[in-house]
Amino acid sequence: MEYERILIRYGEISTKGRNRNQFVEKLRKSVRIALAPFPNIKVEASRDRMYVLLNGENCEEVIGKLKSIFGIQSFSPAIKVKRDIEVLKQSSLEIVRSLFKEGQTFKITPKRSDKTFELDTDGINQTIGGHLLKNIPGMKVKVKNPDINLRIEVRKEAIYLSCETIQGAGGLPVGSGGKAMLMLSGGIDSPVAGYMAMKRGLEIEAVHFFSPPFTSERSKEKVIDLSKKLSEIYGSMTLHIVPFTDIQQTIAEQIPENYSMTSTRRMMLRITDEIRKKHEGLAIITGESVGQVASQTLESMFAINEVTNTPILRPLITMDKTDIIRIAHEIDTLEISNRPFEDCCTIFVPASPKTKPKREKVQHYESFFDFDPLIHEAVQETETLVIKPDNKQHSEFSELF
Ligand code: ATP
Ligand code: MG
Repeated sequence: MEYERILIRYGEISTKGRNRNQFVEKLRKSVRIALAPFPNIKVEASRDRMYVLLNGENCEEVIGKLKSIFGIQSFSPAIKVKRDIEVLKQSSLEIVRSLFKEGQTFKITPKRSDKTFELDTDGINQTIGGHLLKNIPGMKVKVKNPDINLRIEVRKEAIYLSCETIQGAGGLPVGSGGKAMLMLSGGIDSPVAGYMAMKRGLEIEAVHFFSPPFTSERSKEKVIDLSKKLSEIYGSMTLHIVPFTDIQQTIAEQIPENYSMTSTRRMMLRITDEIRKKHEGLAIITGESVGQVASQTLESMFAINEVTNTPILRPLITMDKTDIIRIAHEIDTLEISNRPFEDCCTIFVPASPKTKPKREKVQHYESFFDFDPLIHEAVQETETLVIKPDNKQHSEFSELF
């Protein structure tokens, strides 16, 4: 059976009332980016569903791409037929015959979203069911868990036939929920946090703190590679690289060693917040998980978070490391994150950072030095790159939309 289209069901976006058009547009964009390698494909979107018209492109390969797009609840390869009983009988027979194997069972699931069609759901069941039973010897009806479930959907413009429902990635289309800045290190956690935020519809721009010569070009490369991976989801991603050496050295000179990490995090957050303002983001995302390391105790978060009232999203906050690693593996960032590198934080991290820092103390230590000019300078000298996936076809295509 050669399918000519794939029907896409929206999932959660169906419930989003007024914002629906915007959601559909964002999903359409994600679909176009993901299907860029298939030039003959056409995408038709309406308020309640989307069709990918295959125009001869390979259905299996397209299915593989659709599985990872956020905002798709499920999808079905389908054929479109005229609203005519004879045509419906013949096409139903073709599709079921192409799937049927000796001893298998079937059922029909009719749905009429347009009630003007001459057969009602019972009529469809009887007419088409009877036709199939007569023409496929040995096939039996089974209502619960049949081997083949032929969905017949009668709509105003045509009838759609499909036999398979494939689970989508769920979530919401990227960009439908606004923009946030992802604090992206070279570690395992932050790329996973970015992925999860994108899954909930956020568009992200990454911010990375870089301390040459203490951190090498190689560690910058690593962050660029991680950004490339994440950019596959939406065709491109902006990466801000912040020169952080001066601030780290100043912290090392000015702040008692056991508070240097707390202060470093506060400075990172202040700078990220400035970059967020400049680029009109509404939140900051980190890869923190409570209790994982010294800077991620509640006391630390309480002391660090003080510098901003911008929402800080921590998608991994209650997750175990093993679960985070599993996701990193699934999204193909683990291998990149595992490459050895010098993290700008670990280099300056003291042997015994405070696990229970006090807000008042860090405020007090920071009060002897005016960090504002250094923060301003770091923001000014931030290098902004637009990262595209490695697959060139991808990036060329995404520029079209
Ligand atoms: P990750 O695996 O994401 O590096 P981690 O377990 O190593 O996290 P930390 O080093 O404490 O934890 O970092 C906590 C969070 O702070 C990171 O998830 C990331 O969001 C942010 N962060 C740390 N270092 C940097 C950096 N050099 N540039 C940008 N963000 C950073
Ligand atoms: Mg880290």
